[in-house]
Amino acid sequence: MKVLLHICCGVCASSVVERLMCEGYTVTGYFYGPNIHPHDEYDRRLDAARAVAREMRFDLIEGKYDRERWFEAVKGAENAPEGGKRCEICFRLRLEAAYRQMRKNMFDRFTTTLTVSPLKDAVLVNRLGREIGGDKFIIADFKKKEGCKRAVELSREMGLYRQDYCGCVYSQEEAIRSRERRSRENGNADRA
Ligand code: SF4
Repeated sequence: MKVLLHICCGVCASSVVERLMCEGYTVTGYFYGPNIHPHDEYDRRLDAARAVAREMRFDLIEGKYDRERWFEAVKGAENAPEGGKRCEICFRLRLEAAYRQMRKNMFDRFTTTLTVSPLKDAVLVNRLGREIGGDKFIIADFKKKEGCKRAVELSREMGLYRQDYCGCVYSQEEAIRSRERRSRENGNADRA
């Protein structure tokens, strides 16, 4: 069965592709990340997805970098906390694009790498996938059976770039604030 796999980054793609191939699917990747900020970060993640595709021998469709569309979609939800309304809109936008690609290229099914991350709500991702694509969407929680750990192992083996924030400008700002907080706390602990 031919499956179109929406790919958010190379690291997450690695263990999901491995699992889908083991289950007998023929995988084509679809890198689509209109959420990713800034542009050079987008390029790094796309390069990592290309490297995984080369290494694991699957075709990769490269989606458009629809930044304006993403910012338009999340308008009003910019300040929602990670995991809230903004993320739901972001998941939906990417899953809808994957569904359109699946139909355009006549794949049998589609799914996404999003559930590999321990920070992503698999129940929400799967609900949206089914709302958009019905039973064409493969329900999964790829973090289970050590999927996340396996992604880290494979990414080390392949020497892939590994990011430290989810992707959008708001998650990047939050990651910077967290780093600053930690460094202040460590500084205080050193002085104590
Ligand atoms: S935190 Fe991640 S999932 Fe949520 S809106 Fe930003 S990029 Fe999308």
